[in-house]
Amino acid sequence: MFDFIIVGSAQAGLSMAYHLKQMGKSFLVVDKESKIGESWLSRWDSLTLFTPTEFNHLEGMEFPAPKGHYPNKYEVADYFDAYVEKFELPIQFNILITSIEKKNGIFILTHQNGELKCSNVIVATGPFYTPYTPPFSIKINKEVRQIHSNFYKNSEQLQHGDTLVVGGGDSGFQILDEVSQNGLTTYFAGPDDAKTLPQEILGKTLWWWFTKTGFLSASKHSWIGKMIANRPQPIIGLDIKEILDRKNVHLVGRALDADEKSINFDKEEVSSIKNIVWATGYRPNFNWIQGLELDKNGYPKNKRGISSIKGLYFIGLPWLHTRGSATLGGVKKDAAYISEIIEKQ
Ligand SMILES: Cc1cc2nc3c(=O)[nH]c(=O)nc-3n(C[C@H](O)[C@H](O)[C@H](O)COP(=O)(O)OP(=O)(O)OC[C@H]3O[C@@H](n4cnc5c(N)ncnc54)[C@H](O)[C@@H]3O)c2cc1C
Repeated sequence: MFDFIIVGSAQAGLSMAYHLKQMGKSFLVVDKESKIGESWLSRWDSLTLFTPTEFNHLEGMEFPAPKGHYPNKYEVADYFDAYVEKFELPIQFNILITSIEKKNGIFILTHQNGELKCSNVIVATGPFYTPYTPPFSIKINKEVRQIHSNFYKNSEQLQHGDTLVVGGGDSGFQILDEVSQNGLTTYFAGPDDAKTLPQEILGKTLWWWFTKTGFLSASKHSWIGKMIANRPQPIIGLDIKEILDRKNVHLVGRALDADEKSINFDKEEVSSIKNIVWATGYRPNFNWIQGLELDKNGYPKNKRGISSIKGLYFIGLPWLHTRGSATLGGVKKDAAYISEIIEKQ
């Protein structure tokens, strides 16, 4: 029986583990994956972070790369590995928690091989939980290869022929950029007027400006925080105009519906598509935690990570406190805050 169990061993879980170790608590980190950094490693091969080194430091150990460098996913996984080793953080892998329930003051965490018990639980299972694809995707002909961006690795996964990319966020544009480079017809269901920001402005990184202007530290309750949260996020570091102007890239507007033969968009109906990459985001899923109160968006009701169930904490959720909460460099502030609360109890 542990004082604490942390579910999730990526940046949010490691940040809490660091503090629990400093406080001398008895704790265990569990993760459904078989190794550290898997949530990053499982993303697409060419992924480069949009945050430079100096905005990727976790508490107690700097990201080992020069300032201004944009790391790839392998560097992030290596950093986590070194972090675990340096602070001797106890992690048990291949444990998928399927239920958390509090009974008689004790949390019972059920997993595929049994149960774990503890007095407190920290849920660090990530800001992006269940990959979402629109319901009409099941009507599409089985011969069309469909991949959610969560499972997209590189264009070799695609069949030869026309490809559709759906989704106008960072992931959608980055994948569109990559898959359209082979010159084959690529349809894009997304906006033609997405706002973009370069990675550098007047010799400073964009994240330097974000920090200076308070963009990353504005709480979700402040007017500036509310304004940022309610607007589409700008696409960082991509020349969207160049990508959308490519001869083989066709903008088709929103994907609306489909049948066995074709897919309907705002602007046209297309029946030649052989592959679809859905960069259509994620939906929260916390129904495996018993007795939890959820907000209107399906996220746990909480005050900066402190839930309505005594002893149950959340870290790493989008906008847990600020825009920075679900970033490598931002999670440490929330971890420090939750740790202070824990220490006072
Ligand atoms: C494509 C992409 C690019 C991004 N680029 C950047 C960037 O450049 N810079 C930046 O700062 N942020 C970036 N982010 C945002 C954010 O930093 C990452 O999403 C990050 O992975 C979140 O870390 P986390 O620890 O909260 O959760 P995750 O990395 O999602 O890790 C959650 C962990 O919990 C485990 N887990 C989940 N459920 C269970 C369960 N039931 N039982 C046991 N284990 C479980 C998972 O296996 C995983 O290891 C990016 C996100 C995406 C999707």
